[in-house]
Amino acid sequence: MARHIGHLDADCFYVSCERVRHRFLRGQAVGVLSNQGACVIAKSYELKTRGVTTGMPIWDALPLCPEAIFVKRDFRWYEVLSRRIYDAVCRFSPTVEYYSIDEVFFDAQAMTHTEALALQNHVLQAAGVPTSVGVAPSKILAKLASSSEKPFGCVVAVEPEAVARLLRGRPVDKITGVGRRSSRKLERHRIRTCEDFVRADRRLIRRLLTKRGEDLWWELNGTSVLPLHATRTPHKNLSRGGSLGGPTADPDRVTAWVARNAERLVEALDYHDVYCERLLLSLVFKPGGGVLRSASLWPTADFHELYTAGARMLAACWNGQVVAYMHLIAGKLTARRDVQRCLWDKPDPRHQAIRHVKHLINTQVGRFALRSGATLPLGDIYRDTTNSYDICDIYGKTCF
Ligand SMILES: [Mg+2]
Repeated sequence: MARHIGHLDADCFYVSCERVRHRFLRGQAVGVLSNQGACVIAKSYELKTRGVTTGMPIWDALPLCPEAIFVKRDFRWYEVLSRRIYDAVCRFSPTVEYYSIDEVFFDAQAMTHTEALALQNHVLQAAGVPTSVGVAPSKILAKLASSSEKPFGCVVAVEPEAVARLLRGRPVDKITGVGRRSSRKLERHRIRTCEDFVRADRRLIRRLLTKRGEDLWWELNGTSVLPLHATRTPHKNLSRGGSLGGPTADPDRVTAWVARNAERLVEALDYHDVYCERLLLSLVFKPGGGVLRSASLWPTADFHELYTAGARMLAACWNGQVVAYMHLIAGKLTARRDVQRCLWDKPDPRHQAIRHVKHLINTQVGRFALRSGATLPLGDIYRDTTNSYDICDIYGKTCF
């Protein structure tokens, strides 16, 4: 029996999610905004036809489509529907990879076009979200197929003629993993379409785009070399942070962000049941530049230790510049069961008690309900619920 790979990708996912709970948004031009409400991070097809692009500031988008409705993002809700999509696909396939919040790969076995349509309709019924489906001999071809007839497309390209049709005339940058820089390299060898790419010499592709490029070459030639991952491989690093909700040079706010990110990092370390032995602090300044500091730690997932190390690094590397982005990155991760503790390395019982109470209350009452007093200068951030859940808080995705 021929085995094929399927790819299912939600159509304008964030907008579709908003339309599931707010029916009046259906048929309207809708944009989803970042947590600060400054940029369009997703747009409906109605908004797209008016020239609004992802990443466009709201003040540029509004004049293009004054009647559009803009809503702030809500990743917690998007995750609910994302899991429904995943569960729906699991009913059709024995192996499903939770690739990203709005995409799954799956073992399509010998799925026919009629069966692919049935899957698409089942997902629509189960999650209320329209999706596009592609079925092909490999992951990269399946992704190309699902994107080839959006929205609500359903393309089964398993026969050689159908695969050839999929590749013909399609720009090479439509291949996942071929960005602007790679396309420029390929352009120098007149490789402009997917068809040019599969006909090119494999060794040339490897030379230009390394092993990753060669994998793409095999995949596009119909040989599956990228396996399905039903579970994700363990993280090498865990990172929490992002924009500071508006650039700031206020020492109280900047320090409070270290505390907020340390609390979020503790959650992630607990979820993955690991300790970290290295902590990195990354700051990006406005208008440009930045710093990266690192500190070695005893294996820990303790808020007090992470916050103290983060605050110490901040004091050592920050001279009052305007900070736009901050990340706290936990490295050298070790599974907790593998960590050997020595006699003198006893966790502080007070910190353990605080940690226990915090966990108990926050799982009952809500995330951040009980938090460090060091986060007090960020009252505005905690009051705005769009800040309470981020895309990195959705666990199990394989793409990042
Ligand atoms: Mg999508």
